[in-house]
Amino acid sequence: MSESISSGPTDPGAEIAQKLGTLRAEFEAKLAEARDDAALQRIKSDFFGPKGELTLMSRSVGQLPSEQRPVMGKAINEVKRALESELDRKIQDHEARKRDEELRRSRLDMTLPGRALHAKGAVHPVARVMYEISDIFARMGFSVATGPEVELDFYNFEALNFPPDHPARDMQDTFFVRPPDGRAIKDLVLRTHTSPVQIRAMERQGAPIRIIAPGRVYRCDQDATHSPMFHQIEVLCVDEGVSFAHLKGTLTSFIQSFFGSRGVRFRPSFFPFVEPGAEVDMQCTMCGGEGCRICKQTGWVEILGAGMVHPVLLESCGIDSERYTGFAAGLGLDRIALLRWGLDELAHLYRSDVRFLSQI
Ligand SMILES: [Zn+2]
Repeated sequence: MSESISSGPTDPGAEIAQKLGTLRAEFEAKLAEARDDAALQRIKSDFFGPKGELTLMSRSVGQLPSEQRPVMGKAINEVKRALESELDRKIQDHEARKRDEELRRSRLDMTLPGRALHAKGAVHPVARVMYEISDIFARMGFSVATGPEVELDFYNFEALNFPPDHPARDMQDTFFVRPPDGRAIKDLVLRTHTSPVQIRAMERQGAPIRIIAPGRVYRCDQDATHSPMFHQIEVLCVDEGVSFAHLKGTLTSFIQSFFGSRGVRFRPSFFPFVEPGAEVDMQCTMCGGEGCRICKQTGWVEILGAGMVHPVLLESCGIDSERYTGFAAGLGLDRIALLRWGLDELAHLYRSDVRFLSQI
């Protein structure tokens, strides 16, 4: 009796095996149709959930005759594992497709280069020239002094020995400042040079003194090589026994450390605050002395003005001009930046055009 049951058409093992085949076919069909998350989740719970078909089938193995249990249990487990991994693969493919679609929708072009949040900054050409020059003079024992940009007429002109009728004191050249308290209009000016810092430093410190004074200066002037605001650096050295030889040695050494080895010449010139005065030229940086547009075919470019400090200045600052002598020099930083990088127009430096400035 028992044999006919186990090998007949109602054999529970054979029944499960047949059902397993049907389930598998059903699973494949549903999986092939599944298009979204919900469908995939439904398949998961229908087959593998607590009340899923395969879970129930695993449980029914317990009701089989004991000799069939291991074989059928194994068969069911194998099918279950195979179908589970098939489902996982499909879920992963589906997730990947969803990500691709999202990226396409967001119009994010992954092939574009990244956008930097902050552009890297750099020192402005004029500031760079100023730091380099200050460094050179610092190595020669000069320290940095500063003074106000809105200056008293006294320090800007009178104390520097400018006579009252000097053309520089004309309204055409100088910006006069009307102070809020209504003082006489000619008392305050935007300083036209860094030379007033000489006077202030000598008044404060006396002699000996060795300073440089870099800073902004202002004149009513504007064309390709002039700007109403520009930069100068003033050099002052006062001590016992300072002679014109010291002036020549210091300035030649500065020019050659900044521009490299080249010819330097001194031409007599006049400035009210020095005696004697000189203009200093160096061999053109562009053509090396052959003659070009920059040096107007002369082979030389003017680089600074200098001279021995006028005794009147020393005395007015309370320095004994019998005991002390000194030299002073002034140079335009903007002009030096033009020469350094071969630029033809000063305005380039102040247009704040990063495309241009970043080339330097
Ligand atoms: Zn030249």
